[in-house]
Amino acid sequence: NQSISRKLLHFLNEDQVITDSSSLERLSKDYYWYSPVLKEMLDNKIADCIAVPENENDMINILLMAVKERIPVTVRGAGTGNYGQIIPINGGILMDISRMNRIIEINDGSVKVQPGVKLGLLERKLRDENQELCIYPSTYMKSTASGFVCGGSGGIGSITWGNLWDGNVLGIRIITMEDSPRVIQIEGEELINYIHSYGTTGIISEIVFRITEKIEWQQIIVSFEDLEKSLRFAKAVCETHQFKKRSVSTCEWPIPSFFKPLEKMIKAEKHIVILEIEESYFEELKEIINQYEGEVTYTIPSEQYHKGISLSDFTWNHTTLWALKSNEKMTYLQCSFNLNHYLDQIKLIKNRFGDEFYIHFDWFRSKGELIPQAIPLVRFSSKKRLDEMIEFCESIGVKIFNPHTPLLEEGGWEEHIDSVLKIKRENDPYSLLNPGKIGVLLDI
Ligand code: FAD
Repeated sequence: NQSISRKLLHFLNEDQVITDSSSLERLSKDYYWYSPVLKEMLDNKIADCIAVPENENDMINILLMAVKERIPVTVRGAGTGNYGQIIPINGGILMDISRMNRIIEINDGSVKVQPGVKLGLLERKLRDENQELCIYPSTYMKSTASGFVCGGSGGIGSITWGNLWDGNVLGIRIITMEDSPRVIQIEGEELINYIHSYGTTGIISEIVFRITEKIEWQQIIVSFEDLEKSLRFAKAVCETHQFKKRSVSTCEWPIPSFFKPLEKMIKAEKHIVILEIEESYFEELKEIINQYEGEVTYTIPSEQYHKGISLSDFTWNHTTLWALKSNEKMTYLQCSFNLNHYLDQIKLIKNRFGDEFYIHFDWFRSKGELIPQAIPLVRFSSKKRLDEMIEFCESIGVKIFNPHTPLLEEGGWEEHIDSVLKIKRENDPYSLLNPGKIGVLLDI
């Protein structure tokens, strides 16, 4: 790694090149340890050197040098990904984008940013100007713009606006990994080759996100005796046109018992639905709550939105984090249930796996269709048992996006993999961008 850092120092300043072993170890990791399978597989993978670009020109120079020397390059945003996306499996350079964090331009309905801007800061700035992000991950306080685009999928807001590939990314500027790197503007259908592709097809230097008018959001916990009623209630809230929603999540008991900061707001043995809805429509919401025999056990008014405790910290993959804090044997799956059969599918799973599998839905909409998307918690006993669960879910029509693999196509991206591969071959002919994340390439 001395020789890599020497070469980087030809065009970067000393404080832009990191080689000390504790930083290398710390920054080469993300939240891969959520998965006991990935933990075992990726624990010892570490970058040789970290380069910290301050502008697009630095990025181009890093790539030029790396191509010439055939050194792998993996980008690190905030390192909050769950599948080892930033772990440099073959070593090489880890490119830390944290200094490229400028909001370039805010327009009506769109915002252009550098890749390293934190989404929490961006959302705050937009709200000051009466707009807001359409979607952001529950890790928005730490997560970077390009980390979300290249590693994430959806989150808060997805119940209305869909996922990253539903028009929420309007454009990106990318740099290719060739003898002479190209800088290209990508828009429209071609974006699919870069979104959620772990930076295997190009390095993003700018992003334009879709944004929307600011809404005053109220956060609410509704509790239920009966799991089925909590699920039917959540679906009814998703389907109503009476008010806007930003987040609808359902958690089976005992998941709420893992949410220690909410201890006083949660009742024992009750399943909960966590909501973000347009504040002025609380009365309309109450009618639906009564219909499904729910009880409001906690509300956060809009003045407190994003100040102090935020209920989005208990949705999406935060749920797994709280579970892991209580019991290190917990892990998770990611799946889509079928809107017409999800209750039957849940019954079949609960009959087969009982307390090994707890229901957690984060409802969202894609291409206008409501999807009962789930991040269920599962008790880990062995990889064999986990595979049995995956197999069983698939056999009853529950689509699994396996989070226990570093490979794109095994994590649910199989539909796009041919198209991603075609672009990868054009943009990264020596296969140096984040190697080890596309299975087909490993077999060559
Ligand atoms: P990183 O983890 O640093 O990077 C992600 C991927 O993007 C890596 O492959 C990296 O190489 C690549 N990348 C980053 N920048 C660039 C670039 N400029 N060019 C090319 N490639 C690049 N995800 C969701 O989608 N929704 C959620 O609600 C959500 N909730 C989460 C909750 C918890 C508690 C945790 C731990 C994770 C959660 N995640 C969620 C996963 C993750 O936090 C998000 O996807 C987040 O947006 C990733 O951003 P990051 O900056 O940490 O990216």
